Amino acid sequence: MVNNQPVIEIRNLHKRYGELEVLRGVDITAPGGHVISLIGSSGSGKSTLLRCANLLEDSQKGEILFEGEPVKWKGQELARRPADAKQIMRIRTNLSMVFQQFNLWSHMTILENVMECPVTVLGRDKAEVEQKARMYLDKVGIGDKCDAWPAQLSGGQQQRAAIARALCMEPKALLFDEPTSALDPELEQEVVRVIKALAEEGRTMIIVTHDMKMAHDVSDHVVFLHQGLIEEQGDPATLFGAPKSERLQQFLSHTT
Ligand code: ADP
Ligand code: MG
Repeated sequence: MVNNQPVIEIRNLHKRYGELEVLRGVDITAPGGHVISLIGSSGSGKSTLLRCANLLEDSQKGEILFEGEPVKWKGQELARRPADAKQIMRIRTNLSMVFQQFNLWSHMTILENVMECPVTVLGRDKAEVEQKARMYLDKVGIGDKCDAWPAQLSGGQQQRAAIARALCMEPKALLFDEPTSALDPELEQEVVRVIKALAEEGRTMIIVTHDMKMAHDVSDHVVFLHQGLIEEQGDPATLFGAPKSERLQQFLSHTT
């Protein structure tokens, strides 16, 4: 389902760590129902951009709009400008993040991992959350692992559990940071299949990935980041089929 209202819109975002300018004026828009892939070399600022988008990081300059509503910054200090606590909460709970290293809680079962945030952060009814959690675990193909501990699962299963956990928040968009990078190729495909299915359902997603095939297959739009700036962007067929910038050509020649 595609609609015109962007779930998240970032305009001219600047982010620096001390002297290091990591984002130097980046614009990115994720319209409802669209999948945006973010590609680029290590260190180009991809993770930082995702972390700024859901306010895990402060930024120095630029705007972030969530469902059309601009983030209100508390002050405009040079080094940082924290957002309003209520907005942070609203945006973080609506932009669920999936990380490279899964980050499941090792002392909780898979079901407990998936139920934790909807119950404790959103205050939802436990029985209803359990039903949903089981449904999302089924959806990612590990409905039989509810009572297992994270350490008993393969990497691919753990990442699918992490995706179920993100889905159980019923967010407006999912943000993936290299979701398949820690996985062996055959396990990687389990996760790619889940991400493809989510794309087909019309979920709004921003996916940082090194997997150009996945980026090509699932994205509506691909953004190539280079040293904190967008070097090139476009639909996947054009961007991968006929890259214009030399840097993108070079980047793609090193990937498979
Ligand atoms: P990518 O995800 O594209 O590999 P990152 O966004 O992680 O890139 O990092 C971009 C740059 O910012 C890198 O040079 C990295 O070393 C630096 N960086 C990232 N996080 C921090 C931090 N917390 N403190 C200082 N520098 C950081
Ligand atoms: Mg990264």
